[in-house]
Amino acid sequence: MASVQLVEDKVLTTEEIKDLQQKVRDLARQKNAVILAHYYQRPEVQDVADFVGDSLDLSRKAANTDADIIVFCGVRFMCETAKILSPRKKVLHPNPESGCPMADMVSAQQVRKLRTEHPDAEFVAYINTTADVKAEVDLCVTSANAPKIISKLESKKIVFLPDQALGNWIAKQVQDKEFVIWKGFCPPHFEFTAREVQALKERYPDAKLAVHPECHPKVIELADFVGSTSQIIRYATTVDSKRVIVITEVGLKYTLQKKNPDKEYIFPETMNYCGTVYCCTMKGITLPKVYETLKEEINEVTLPPDLIERARRPIERMLRLS
Ligand code: SF4
Repeated sequence: MASVQLVEDKVLTTEEIKDLQQKVRDLARQKNAVILAHYYQRPEVQDVADFVGDSLDLSRKAANTDADIIVFCGVRFMCETAKILSPRKKVLHPNPESGCPMADMVSAQQVRKLRTEHPDAEFVAYINTTADVKAEVDLCVTSANAPKIISKLESKKIVFLPDQALGNWIAKQVQDKEFVIWKGFCPPHFEFTAREVQALKERYPDAKLAVHPECHPKVIELADFVGSTSQIIRYATTVDSKRVIVITEVGLKYTLQKKNPDKEYIFPETMNYCGTVYCCTMKGITLPKVYETLKEEINEVTLPPDLIERARRPIERMLRLS
């Protein structure tokens, strides 16, 4: 993946943001480009996108687009997934430095070694993995579809990677299978503690608690609802409670407020009695970077054709099964 130094980002005024968003939209039209953004992106980036979604939604969009260029506002494994599903499109990543720490916690070599230790198992990878790792597994899943898809598999033994929190949550729901779970984790979600959640619950006793399955098992135990970002959106905007505490990346707050402004969404942002769930690499995508990347058509995501071919199979299997 080519990396190009971009102009240094500065804080933009509202007018500058609007102006830049208009320029991005004009360029997208001229170049027949589609802009995809994850829910954890900055509000001004979400607002300039053609589509905002979670990993599964964005994979589907990338697979079905007619655009010539995909500008992917998310982390590296998401851009790779878009390239794998649309290999003839030009996929651009506005910040090639934005990787996912959890995806980098397991390598293809480690998966190959694990295969020799568990030759009878089906290997299932969270979509949050590198293309190299996807090429080594039998199936990909997202947090939205994992329990449903895995419960349908014939194999009685599952090796799940890389996220231990998601793996444990799935194993609790799919009890007729044996699970071997890799020890990776998402730092922003996993490091948020049950003690901090308790403090929020005490402060807002009337609120429901929705958490992402990448959270620590002790946090999941306290939840009224556990689900992917899309599932949390459905729950939080419709649940019969005025207030909802949401333990996932703070970028989701913007979507929730737009979808149902009548509710109060409590995120652990910068409160003095608890930490925050903030993904620095997701926030490494900025509006000026989106503009520069599309204007100059830089930061193209490239993968070897044989890797694309091998990594495509587990993703397509997921799309068929979900
Ligand atoms: S929120 Fe967690 S899983 Fe998602 S990109 Fe950031 S580190 Fe990776």
